[in-house]
This record gives sequence, structure tokens and C-alpha cells, in this order.
Amino acid sequence: DLDHVYEALLNTAADLDDLEPDSVLEEAWIKEAVKTSGMKYKWAKLTETKIRENKEVQRQPPPDPAVLVCRPPVVTIMGHVDHGKTTLLDSLRKSQIAAQEAGGITQHIGAFLVQLPSGEKITFLDTPGHAAFSAMRARGAFVTDIVILVVAADDGVMNQTVESIQHAKKAKVPIILAVNKCDKPQVDPERVKQELLAHDVVCEEFGGDVQAIHISALKGDNLMALAEATVTLAEVLELKGDPTGLVEGAIIESRTDKGKGPVTTAIIQRGTLRKGCVLVAGKTWAKVRFMYDENNRSVTEAGPSVAVEIVGWKDLPSAGDEILEVESEQRAREVVEWRAYVEEQDKLKEELQVIEAKQREHQESYKKEREGMEHLSWRQRKAALYRANKHRMAYRAKENVTSEDLILPVIIKGDVDGSVEAILNILSSYDANDQCRMEIVHFGVGDISENDLSMAETFSGIIYGFNVGANKSIQQMATKKGIPVKLHRIIYKLVDDLKDELSSKLPPAI
Ligand code: GDP
Repeated sequence: DLDHVYEALLNTAADLDDLEPDSVLEEAWIKEAVKTSGMKYKWAKLTETKIRENKEVQRQPPPDPAVLVCRPPVVTIMGHVDHGKTTLLDSLRKSQIAAQEAGGITQHIGAFLVQLPSGEKITFLDTPGHAAFSAMRARGAFVTDIVILVVAADDGVMNQTVESIQHAKKAKVPIILAVNKCDKPQVDPERVKQELLAHDVVCEEFGGDVQAIHISALKGDNLMALAEATVTLAEVLELKGDPTGLVEGAIIESRTDKGKGPVTTAIIQRGTLRKGCVLVAGKTWAKVRFMYDENNRSVTEAGPSVAVEIVGWKDLPSAGDEILEVESEQRAREVVEWRAYVEEQDKLKEELQVIEAKQREHQESYKKEREGMEHLSWRQRKAALYRANKHRMAYRAKENVTSEDLILPVIIKGDVDGSVEAILNILSSYDANDQCRMEIVHFGVGDISENDLSMAETFSGIIYGFNVGANKSIQQMATKKGIPVKLHRIIYKLVDDLKDELSSKLPPAI
């Protein structure tokens, strides 16, 4: 099971911290190598066992203008803290309850609908402040058509007023100015409009196109005028939506309800949502079981610009996630699986890049250390090798590792000191590729011996002989144990052979 291999490899890498290494470099190297091979296993598993074809939802073509219908504007209220956003939302909501006579219990679902006596509708997002606004925009699921900018007449333009203007301008959403707290004595609403000129918000009386309404959110004064100004602007904007075809929308709120389970509020942007529709959002999906409005009344249909609470999610999607309808539950599962796959793939790619960069760094220092070996005496070489092997053995014994993917252990035997040293020098200057490196675990003079075989067995290595032999019993033993013994009489052929071996150990390309 590759998962286990992966876990084991990563744990090994982590546990190496406890080892007291003879060479810090050695340890770092092995650690990175082990980590990478773990990653590559995971990668191989991911790419071999899962979907390869793009299963993302295919976008619908733009709607036929003939099917478009007018839709209500979706409005966000913004402004500086304490300027009256919450009060305004409450008053607007209350005006509706009164109008409905139902006196129903409103629940907070993230949005509510205001209907004017003329029959016109407005959808208000009731998460004031630009936190919601910018989160929405960052996710590319921006749903607001109009921003009502609340400025308290007794306070004037403040920091967050300016920020709100910047948000609206960036998103190219037109502004209506609500000068609030006009019930307070001795306030001067005109001053607010004047101040706003400096921020490129030009009210109608200054020749601009921003409507300004003087209101008192607290007393409910002039709220109808504000609603009418909104409807007027919506008409100018010619807001249209396609009520046919597959549903598209955006999640504006998402929470777990004690009774209902995972619920979300969505603003429908295209199509008409009905019970039984299958939706995907983020990495989860829903078969719509129930829909509710802000008065907790069951709803059977929700068309463009309508906010509706949806019950039926398998998991909780996030605010700002895009909602897309698909043909079937099977298709929904497929899309969700695909998205999880893509995310895992991206994450793995990122991790791998970091590790590979580290590996290259180590490789550089390792190469330098090796280059230094050229000037070492035979005994010094042996001593260095002994230390490295001790460390390797400890590591292998501790973790019960028998072979590593990215390391090619090599044993070099030659006829005389000089030839062995020549080979070692060539190999130490050989610029191994980025992903696999050879490690000389033993070298010496003379024919291939039983000791050589046991070294090769311990490290799962390959034996290279230069101008030496291997008697029959050694050859038989090697064959039995599956140890490759390669005998050469020309140095460069030996080195080429080694390079081939290294290439064959390369992990699958990513
Ligand atoms: P928010 O931070 O923008 O949501 O502001 P709030 O709605 O919480 O209002 C802040 C304070 O201003 C509260 O004490 C409100 O009662 C008060 N307030 C809001 N609107 C008005 C208004 O129109 N007139 C007066 N006099 N006070 C208001």
C-alpha cells in the first residue's frame, strides 16, 4: 500500500532528527532523498489510480438575449463603523415585516428582500462592512450590483468611508449615497457631499451621477426614497438574468444549523433553483432538499438575484464559493473528486518544488565535499567511508530500510590502488543528475570477495570490478542473491555503465 510507504518514508525523515550523525550533510541528504521518494510514491499513486481527464463543470454559453428577464438589484451597504449600517439594515428589514402583516420571525440568512409598494424588489446583503465585500470579490464570485454608501452627517467622510469607495470603484459597482443621522440637530448633510468630491464621488447637484438621499436609519426617515433611488439606478443599469437552464450562483453565507445541518445562503445568478437540483460548490455538493427565505418560509423556486437558504449539502462549502448545477449526483461526485484531486496535485507539486530546491542545495555542498576527497589518502578515504557507512547502517537498522529509491549504492574493486583511486576520482567529480546520486559504500583491491557480496547485500548495491575476476562460487552466490556484479576492463566503459544505472533509477517524471 503506497500510502503506508509514503507515511513510513516521511516518518523516517522526521525521526532522523534523533540520530547523531557523523556528517550533518549526509543526514540532510538522506532526509531529503527519503522525503522526495515518499512524495514521488504519492505522486505516482495519485496519477495512476485516479482520474486523468478534466472533470470540471463545463461552462454554459452566454444566454440567448431573448430569454433574459429583468432581475432585482443586489445591494451591499458599506461605510465607516458606527455610521449606521446595521441600523439601516434593521430598519429596512422591519419595514418589510410590517408590510407583510405576517409579523413573522425573521432569521439572519445573510440577505433579505425588500419589496416596494410598486412591486419592485431589492435584495439586500445584510453582512455590512467590506470584509464580506472583499472576500466575495477575491473569490471571483462578486454578486453586488449597487453599493449604498452610508456616511453619518455628524461625522463626515472617514477612513472606512474612503476604503468603501475604493472597493466599489475597483469592482466597478455604482454608488448611492445615504447621508445618515439627519435627525440629529445641527448636522450639515451638504458638507458630506462636498467632502466626497475629493474622493471622486460626485453627487447629482454637482453635476455627477451619484444620487444622495438624506436619511435617518434610526427613525426610519426617507427609507422609501432610498429604496426608490436604488430601483431607479437598477433600471439605468438594465439588470437582466437568465431564468432558464442550469443554475449558477454564489454562496454568501454558510453555517451548520442545529436542526437543518449544513446550510448555505446563495444568491442565484442564473437559472431557477428548485428542490431536487444537484449543485456543486467548492469541494462539496448538494441535492437540494429544502429552500427557505429570510422569514423561514419554505420556497419552491428561486430565480436570478434571489437569496435563498439551501438545505441538502453533504459538507459545508465556504462563503464566496461558486455554485454550479450539474445533471446528476454521479456527476456531482465526479466533479468534487476531481477538484480534490487537483488541489492535492497542486499542493504536492509545491511541496516537491521546495524539497527539490533543498536537494539541489545539498547536492552542491555534497559535491564540494566529494571534490575534497581527491586529495585524500587511501586511509583517509577508508576512514571517511567507514564513518558514512556507520551512519547509513544505523539509519537503516533503526528504520528497517533496505533500499532507497534515489540512491545507487556502489562497490568498487580494482586490480591495484592506482586504478581504484582513478575510478574514485572520476566518480567523485562526476556531476550526478539532480534526482539520483550514487554512493560508494565500499572499495578495495583484489578479486570480488564474499565480503564484497555481503556489503552489496546490506546496501542493495551493485559491484563494479576493474581488471579483476570473480570465481565460480562467488558468481553463483551473487546470482542467487540477485546482486549485480559488473566486470570491466576499460575505465570509461565502467563509468558509462554506472551512469546508465543511475539513469535507470530515476523516478517517474513529473
Ligand atoms: P454600524 O457600525 O455602521 O453598523 O453602525 P450602527 O448601526 O451600529 O450604529 C451606530 C450608532 O449610531 C448606534 O448607536 C445607532 O443607534 C446610531 N444611529 C444609527 N443610525 C442613526 C440615525 O439615523 N440617527 C441617530 N441619531 N443615530 C443613529
